[in-house]
Amino acid sequence: MPQIEPSNAFSALGLEPAIVMALDDLHFVEPSEIQRLMIPVALTGADIIGQARTGTGKTAAFGLPILQRLDLTQSLQALIVTPTRELAIQVEAEMVRFARHKVARMIVVYGGQKIQHQTKLLERHPHVVVGTPGRILDLNQRGSLPLANMKFVVFDEVDRMFDIGFRDDVRKILALCKAPRQTIFVSATINDDIERMVHQHMTNPQRIFTAKADETLTNPEAVQYVVGVQPWDKLRALRCLIQHEQPGLAIIFCRTKRSVDKVAHGLCERGVNASAIHGDLLQNQRERVMRGFRTGKINVLVATDLASRGIDVHEISHVINYDVPEDPEAYVHRVGRTARMGATGKAFTFVSLGQAQLQTEIEKMINHLLEEYRIPGFTPSMEPSKRPGAVPHPAQDGRSAPDGAPGAPAESQTAAPAADGYAPTSFSAAEPTIVTRRPISGRFPTRRRR
Ligand code: AMP
Repeated sequence: MPQIEPSNAFSALGLEPAIVMALDDLHFVEPSEIQRLMIPVALTGADIIGQARTGTGKTAAFGLPILQRLDLTQSLQALIVTPTRELAIQVEAEMVRFARHKVARMIVVYGGQKIQHQTKLLERHPHVVVGTPGRILDLNQRGSLPLANMKFVVFDEVDRMFDIGFRDDVRKILALCKAPRQTIFVSATINDDIERMVHQHMTNPQRIFTAKADETLTNPEAVQYVVGVQPWDKLRALRCLIQHEQPGLAIIFCRTKRSVDKVAHGLCERGVNASAIHGDLLQNQRERVMRGFRTGKINVLVATDLASRGIDVHEISHVINYDVPEDPEAYVHRVGRTARMGATGKAFTFVSLGQAQLQTEIEKMINHLLEEYRIPGFTPSMEPSKRPGAVPHPAQDGRSAPDGAPGAPAESQTAAPAADGYAPTSFSAAEPTIVTRRPISGRFPTRRRR
């Protein structure tokens, strides 16, 4: 094990031996930047607004100080709120690991599971409750989860909570936590809405930002590309990309539940070990899929943004944005699923003509120009409505072209110009190519040439 300078060790941050021992067991050798900055401040009891790149150890940054400051003679002291069930499950599991040499009790509560089961868990007088906003409020209204004495309240991925309509729930929860408390907001991105909430609900908050203005927000270890591909070619392009990249574990993000199902189906048909995950699945199905993915039984997870936050599976080698995210913050979170805690990874974003503005917004957000990538062996096809013999039909607006349809080249076919001559340079596939553009820092052109 590498020798760590005593000043860089977890114990130097003021953490107690029982916690340092657990970190040793977990082979956490050195604190990450957010941990080094946040833990000493959180141990003083200060309110905190913390920003750090996703996958850099935020859970420990807020979780360890809370664990240390718990009064083990009192139940229901700490509340950790997360936007998704998967993240709640993960945060609770991480807290249990941190508390292996303490007697602190944790539970996790979230929708989609029988509420009676969670009421029973609450009867065991846990010290820490991790959960999603709706279920926390539901249990509170039933009288099973009083919040009035919570001394520590954490909102993890708070911007995501606002995005998915939990703003009022966040307000309600904060209003119910009446006792003097330590309040911590953490997220990879902090926007004006969050700043307003901070103003209303925190006392003298300490700001801990680890992503400096001139730094990219995504992990530098994640190599990020854009792939020019038209809507009707996307599934074919995706199969080609997967065949070429042979990812260990990959997440493919789509915009809608329907496209998640379509893409997962399209991949399975070609023998890719893929599964879909989205909000229409039953909770136990969601958990089964996540378990399969974590244990490597499933290689490719096709997901909505449900899986873009917090999901921590170390070996994710590839993130593919099948649909370019409309919100640049979502891009940061999606790409944050790969290259976690020092690992490497690749992110590919499919961009169609007309989506240049979305790409620009992302590049502004991450302060980095994305490299263009052409998939080896992939040939763009003609727009379905322009193919010989095509019957013009409103449904044939380019959303999908069945493989083998006239004009749709086979995946293995080598590059040839599409029959209609439609092959704008940046969308064609002559050679396996990465087009490197000049990186710029801080300033972005408002108009882009494609
Ligand atoms: P998080 O950002 O909290 O989701 O953490 C990302 C992953 O890094 C989790 O699997 C943690 O268990 C792990 N981790 C967090 N802090 C450290 C550390 N200091 N050393 C090694 N692994 C860590």
